[in-house]
Amino acid sequence: MARIIVLGGNFGGLTSALELRRKLGHQHEVIMISKSPNFLFVPSLIWIPLGKRKLKDITVPLKPVTAKARVQFICAEIIEVLAEEKLVRCREKDFKYDYLIIATGPEWIFDQIPGLSLDSNVSFIVNPETARETRKRWLKFIKDPGPVVIGATQGSQCTGPAYEFLFNLEKRCRDLGIRKKVKITFITPEPFLGHLGLGGITGSNFLLKKLLSMFRINYITNAEIEEVSNENIVLKQGQSIPYKFSMLMPMFKGAQVVEDSTGLGTEDAFISVNNAYQHKKYPSIFGVGIAADLPRKFKTPVPIGIPRTGYLADESAKTAAENIVRLLSGNNKLEEKPMEKIPELCIMDAGDKEMLSIADSLLKPRRFSLVLPNPVCDISKIMFEKYYLWKVKHGYSRLP
Ligand SMILES: Cc1cc2nc3c(=O)[nH]c(=O)nc-3n(C[C@H](O)[C@H](O)[C@H](O)COP(=O)(O)OP(=O)(O)OC[C@H]3O[C@@H](n4cnc5c(N)ncnc54)[C@H](O)[C@@H]3O)c2cc1C
Repeated sequence: MARIIVLGGNFGGLTSALELRRKLGHQHEVIMISKSPNFLFVPSLIWIPLGKRKLKDITVPLKPVTAKARVQFICAEIIEVLAEEKLVRCREKDFKYDYLIIATGPEWIFDQIPGLSLDSNVSFIVNPETARETRKRWLKFIKDPGPVVIGATQGSQCTGPAYEFLFNLEKRCRDLGIRKKVKITFITPEPFLGHLGLGGITGSNFLLKKLLSMFRINYITNAEIEEVSNENIVLKQGQSIPYKFSMLMPMFKGAQVVEDSTGLGTEDAFISVNNAYQHKKYPSIFGVGIAADLPRKFKTPVPIGIPRTGYLADESAKTAAENIVRLLSGNNKLEEKPMEKIPELCIMDAGDKEMLSIADSLLKPRRFSLVLPNPVCDISKIMFEKYYLWKVKHGYSRLP
């Protein structure tokens, strides 16, 4: 009997563990270790500060899901992976493994820019704690509104959520009758609106330009932030933009546990993998989702990262699980699915409108890519959230 350990319990981790169990039957041991007791539908964090969702609406306890699937779930923080010894170290206990899937997601860099930190006046929405804090700041702001700056820092891999938060905030200001008092500026490292770290999707630049002008939102592209103070965001180009409320999407590196494990990750703590998601040095280790390295293959005047979607996390997890199943059955021909070739499927909520982006490949060259606008409502992302949480609750990992 082999023991397979999955590190992380969200998109990549939960999908890996459930797929392993579904494909392996019960002759091998599958253990999932995550420091969070819950699955979190991260894309809906954009709605927490503005009150459209509460955290309880977008979380699912992992215990019943894993118990039903007969995956052993351990809620603990992993502090180190000893790849040479095939050992995972938690604070209280060590675990030997035959195969390991690492799906530990990002480590957000909040202090990338002088003056920027978790304690600065700039808010974040990247995890439950920061989204909750931003909600408090938003409630204070709307009592005495002023200028707003929304955007992403240089190197950020998350410009999409910055646009979503921007449009939702603009709509909320209109609903509250305070829009006239709120001058909104969007700052982005993208060379043009709608680049999104993907080189653009057909129609994304045109549509985003139209939306920003329709909602009277100023914007600055190629924005590189020099420093942040309590009242101003100063750009390297020289502008100093005053703000009373601000939300910036920071950049991330790989998880702390990868950084703390000698020889496991790249300089940025990602797992260097081949097209089968297998570690380039340790064949019994796989890296999926955000944990897997995805080097930048294009240059922009101001650095911008490639977005890592939930779909990429799920697809890489399914591929890694399939490959471990093959290796356990003595088949060394592994399935290959290069991350940059996985299709791009994204729903961007734009307040009371939405944009659906589809591309046959995450990065260029592509055969097709298209943005479809829905100018009448923003129902798709809500429907998708409900579908995905239903899928998680029932453990239907094989579904898209
Ligand atoms: C605000 C926001 C909006 C987004 N919107 C979208 C969107 O609209 N569409 C989309 O496709 N993607 C979106 N994304 C990206 C999406 O959330 C990620 O692609 C997805 O969460 C990646 O999944 P993952 O499993 O790789 O990492 P995560 O979801 O981050 O999971 C990491 C897991 O590892 C665990 N972990 C980490 N370190 C340890 C440790 N030391 N010990 C134990 N456990 C550990 C964590 O508890 C967690 O369970 C958004 C992201 C953000 C921040």
